[in-house]
Amino acid sequence: MNETRLPGFGTLCIHAGQEPEPVTGAVSVPIFQTSTYAQDALGTPRAGFEYARSKNPTRLALEELLASLEGGAAGHAFASGQAATSTLATAHLRSGDHVVVSRCSYGGTWRYFTKVLANFGVAFSWVDTTDLDAVRAAIGPATRMLFVETPANPTMEISDLAALATLAGEASARAGAKVRLVIDNTFATPFFQRPLALGADAVVHSTTKYLNGHSDSIGGAIVSATAEDGARIAFVQNAAGAILSPFDSFLVTRGIKTLAVRMRAHDENGRAVAAFLAVHPAVKRVFYPGLPSHPQHALASRQMSGFGGMVSFDLGSPEAVPAFFGRLKLCTIAESLGGVETLVGQPATMSHGSVPPDERAARGITDGLVRLSVGIEDVDDLLADVARALEGE
Ligand SMILES: *Cc1c(COP(=O)(O)O)cnc(C)c1O
Repeated sequence: MNETRLPGFGTLCIHAGQEPEPVTGAVSVPIFQTSTYAQDALGTPRAGFEYARSKNPTRLALEELLASLEGGAAGHAFASGQAATSTLATAHLRSGDHVVVSRCSYGGTWRYFTKVLANFGVAFSWVDTTDLDAVRAAIGPATRMLFVETPANPTMEISDLAALATLAGEASARAGAKVRLVIDNTFATPFFQRPLALGADAVVHSTTKYLNGHSDSIGGAIVSATAEDGARIAFVQNAAGAILSPFDSFLVTRGIKTLAVRMRAHDENGRAVAAFLAVHPAVKRVFYPGLPSHPQHALASRQMSGFGGMVSFDLGSPEAVPAFFGRLKLCTIAESLGGVETLVGQPATMSHGSVPPDERAARGITDGLVRLSVGIEDVDDLLADVARALEGE
């Protein structure tokens, strides 16, 4: 074995941050269900742990794992993806700042930015971040963050990470202040896309989705490119307190152990389902970055190593959606995505219900649009279920 060889991604998923527990040798990091830690003498905590909001060994093991997978300096885990986004925003923004946000961001991001953070003097421009000229035009002297989701929910738009990092760098130089590029990497996961390696300053995740992967935990994460930014996030994580619990930290860590295996299977099934839908007469349009018909297929192929299991498609009319849903037997109608089981939803009334109708229309989120989170069941069973539901049997 060549000693300088770096471990592969699948190996990191299993081992990064996961040393056997020193007291008992437990191979799985235990759930440290404690709020506080004994001090050997006043001001002398035994192993650096004092109070579990600040630091907990189960969460710490997950945070080291997340930092390793995204190639960042520090990872932090939160009670939800939204808790991660809100912590990131309050850590790096202040009143008077301006943020350029992907027009097609997650509905909850839209809600938090427009209905909460806007009340604190932060301004937002909702921009098609696949259009670099539009991003350039939206950046002003007060801009301090580009918040970009790619692939973006639910039309699977792809924004150019390296080009956006260049724009953020130029904007920083002009402003004489850091303009951070933040990527919501929930859909791709670090298995398919590593934004920090392409110049992003931070990555946010809803670990609820692919990272945990089993639809049994709500959580979020931030991975910061630099130790300075990581320290700021740690400070706000402790100050604001939206931490991930020890049990959920254990679940997400366990989920990530199979991330590489699961993502390969999601990708394989996602490609098969997208190819099937693309030629089906009942389907008006399919949104999947792996299809050559996708407007950013070339870019997706360049900056991602796979396309995953998220497939949206237009049935052409709102009436077709409940009919299609009603005939599905294997796919479950539910919010959320990224679990081992296939879930199906109508973005207009579910994930993007909080986005006003005119905004939805501008983003191509029609009432006939269906979003599939393709799971890792046997693909023939999935195709049969979707075919039967489309064909009205
Ligand atoms: C679900 C989701 C979020 C929010 O995460 P929660 O864990 O539900 O709070 C943010 N971004 C994307 C892309 C998501 O899919």
